[in-house]
Amino acid sequence: MTGAQAAPEPRVHRTPAEIGDAVRALRADGRRIAFVPTMGALHAGHSELMRQARSAGDDVAIVVSIFVNPLQFGPNEDLARYPRPLEADLAACRDEGVALVFLPGVADMYPEGADTTVGPGALGGQLEGAVRPGHFAGVLTVVAKLFHIVAPDVAYFGEKDYQQLVLITRMVRDLNFPLRVVPVPTVREADGLALSSRNVYLSPDDRARAATLHRALRAGADAAAGGPAAVLAAAGRVLAEQDALEMDYLELRDAELGTDPEPGPARLLVAARLGATHLIDNIGLDLAPTGNDRATIG
Ligand code: AMP
Repeated sequence: MTGAQAAPEPRVHRTPAEIGDAVRALRADGRRIAFVPTMGALHAGHSELMRQARSAGDDVAIVVSIFVNPLQFGPNEDLARYPRPLEADLAACRDEGVALVFLPGVADMYPEGADTTVGPGALGGQLEGAVRPGHFAGVLTVVAKLFHIVAPDVAYFGEKDYQQLVLITRMVRDLNFPLRVVPVPTVREADGLALSSRNVYLSPDDRARAATLHRALRAGADAAAGGPAAVLAAAGRVLAEQDALEMDYLELRDAELGTDPEPGPARLLVAARLGATHLIDNIGLDLAPTGNDRATIG
């Protein structure tokens, strides 16, 4: 045999009890646990989360969960058609040196009678939460359960889903989960479109149009020296050029997603539909106090 040795296959566990035992065995071996929760259909964005996890140290064992969580989908959303390419997903995990994959079924996560949920507070009803009622209660509930089941030292989440990242960070603080949340910058296609498992739904024409979201965010960030109104106007102009986009929101918030961004770090967030596909994106920027100061993209 020539060439590099094949990476070991990750071990796959389907029940909370099994993955719990496997994690405890790794811990007994002196490993720290780095956790990457996903819904599968893995792409380079997910792989980047795994790479960040690996870079946390040689003693780290990476655990990935793959679970399409019904609780975070609305009645008219894409739960049934959400892509589930399991073989490719396991290969992606193997390529990034993942030790364990947690692959529960719905009944493993929500046995008959399960009725307790985690509430996201006021922010959970804004932005994505206004477009998708109940979405963040579903997200926080499954993430809280996964945190208890996997008991990681550190967990990795993408800035792509910025509101989710903020809400999970807040849940960890507010409910005293003994772990650290690490944000990972958004991985993009060459034209700026944020990688997403949902991009496969886009027709070729809509795929070309989808990069408008990132162009608009860049235009907004480039206008940060002009203050909030200039940011929103610049981004809005780019979005208005693309008739096919059905806008859900374009909002400028502070870095914690408070509604009155002060000068300093801020976040510009956008959501729109192209056909039946819901796309979201965001960008960090440094808001200037007046129209004259220099601003940089964060
Ligand atoms: P999902 O499978 O869509 O639930 O995403 C699982 C994790 O991957 C979440 O923390 C996402 O924010 C993150 N993620 C998704 N897309 C990207 C991307 N393009 N860049 C970085 N992280 C991402």
